[in-house]
Amino acid sequence: MIRVSVNGYGTIGKRVASAILAQPDMKLLGVAKTTPNYEAFTASKLGINLYVPESSIKEFEEVGLKIAGTVEDMVRNSDVVVDATPNGVGAQYKQLYQLSKRKAVFQGGEKSNVADVSFSALCNYSEALNKDYVRVVSCNTTALLRTICSLGKVSKVQKVRGTIVRRAADPKEVKEIPISSLVPNTARVPSHHAKDVNTVLKDLDIVTMAIIAPTTLMHMHLLNVTFSTKVSREDILEVFKNTPRIILIRSKTKVNSTAEILEVARDLGRPRNDIQEVAVFEDSVYTSGNEAFVMYAVHQESIVVPENIDAIRAMTGFNDVDTSIKITNSTLGIRGGYII
Ligand code: NAD
Repeated sequence: MIRVSVNGYGTIGKRVASAILAQPDMKLLGVAKTTPNYEAFTASKLGINLYVPESSIKEFEEVGLKIAGTVEDMVRNSDVVVDATPNGVGAQYKQLYQLSKRKAVFQGGEKSNVADVSFSALCNYSEALNKDYVRVVSCNTTALLRTICSLGKVSKVQKVRGTIVRRAADPKEVKEIPISSLVPNTARVPSHHAKDVNTVLKDLDIVTMAIIAPTTLMHMHLLNVTFSTKVSREDILEVFKNTPRIILIRSKTKVNSTAEILEVARDLGRPRNDIQEVAVFEDSVYTSGNEAFVMYAVHQESIVVPENIDAIRAMTGFNDVDTSIKITNSTLGIRGGYII
C-alpha cells in the first residue's frame, strides 16, 4: 500500500483525499489543515486524521478538533504527499518535502519549475515514472491535454487555437465575482493555458485566449484543431466515444448548458455532483477539411482528481499506464461514451 497524505483540504484536496480512500493500492494517512474551519470539522467527522502546523494545535484543540500530529509528522510518515495548498504555497512546502526525502504531487497553481515534470495521464504518464516531484496541470490545461492527446489518435495534430470561458469562482467561494460583465483574462494573448499545454506537449503550436464569465459552475472551451490530414466528424466522435475521461452530451437529452450537466451529475448520484470527465457537446463537433471544431465543458472542481491518482502510481514506479487509468476510472466511477 502506498501511504499518501494530502496537504490542504480545500476544493481539490478533499476530492483527492476521497479518491485515495477508494484506491485498492493506497492508504490515506491523513490531511493537513491550517485553519479549523468547516472543512476541518467535516474531515474529522469522516474519520480522516487531521495534521496541523505546531503553531495551530492549540487553536484546533480549543474548538474540540482531535489532532493526529503536526504537518511534519504527516510528511515524514508518507510515501507521497499530495500538495493541494493555494497557488504558490506548494512551492514554499517543497523544502519540507525535500528535507523529509518524500515525494510530492503539486497542483496547477504552482509554477511548472516546482516539479520535475508536468503531468497529464493520457499524454505523458511514463515521464512521471519514479519522479520525486510531479505537477498535475490546472483544470483547463488537463482538459485541453486530454482532448488534444485523444484527437491525436484521429490524425497528427498540427495546430490548436482555443477560447476558454473561465468560471469566475468555485461554488463554495464567498469572494466577490464579476456579476455584471465578461472580463478578458488580463487581455493577454496567448493566455497562460497555451504555455501550460507546452510544458507537456513541448512542440505543439497552440494559442489560447481566455475570458472570465460570471458563473461558478464549469469552464467552457471552444477549440479549433488543425490536423495534418483531412478528418471526418465520425472519426472524431468515435475517438471521443471510446476515450474514458471524455463523455459526450447528445442533444436529444436536452442538456444544453453547464447547469444541466451538473444537474445530471446530481440525478445520477455522483459524489459532490462531480464530472471528472471532459464533457463534449456532440453537436458542436464539426469538421472542414483538415480542421475540427468542438465545444466542451470542464468541471474545474474535480477534473484533476484522476490525474492526481495516476501521478501517485507513476511516481511510485507503477509502469502500466493503461492499468493505472483503468483502476482509477473504475474506483471513481469515471466513464466514457454518453453521459445519459
Ligand atoms: P482551496 O483554497 O479550496 O484549498 C486550499 C486548502 O489549503 C484549504 O484547505 C486551506 O485551508 C489550505 N491552506 C491555506 N493556506 C495554507 C498553508 N499556508 N499551508 C497549508 N494549507 C493551507 O484551493 P483549491 O481550489 O483546492 O486549489 C488548490 C490548488 O489546486 C491550487 O494550486 C489551484 O490552482 C489548483 N486547482 C484548483 C482548481 C479549482 O478550480 N479550484 C482546479 C484545478 C487546480
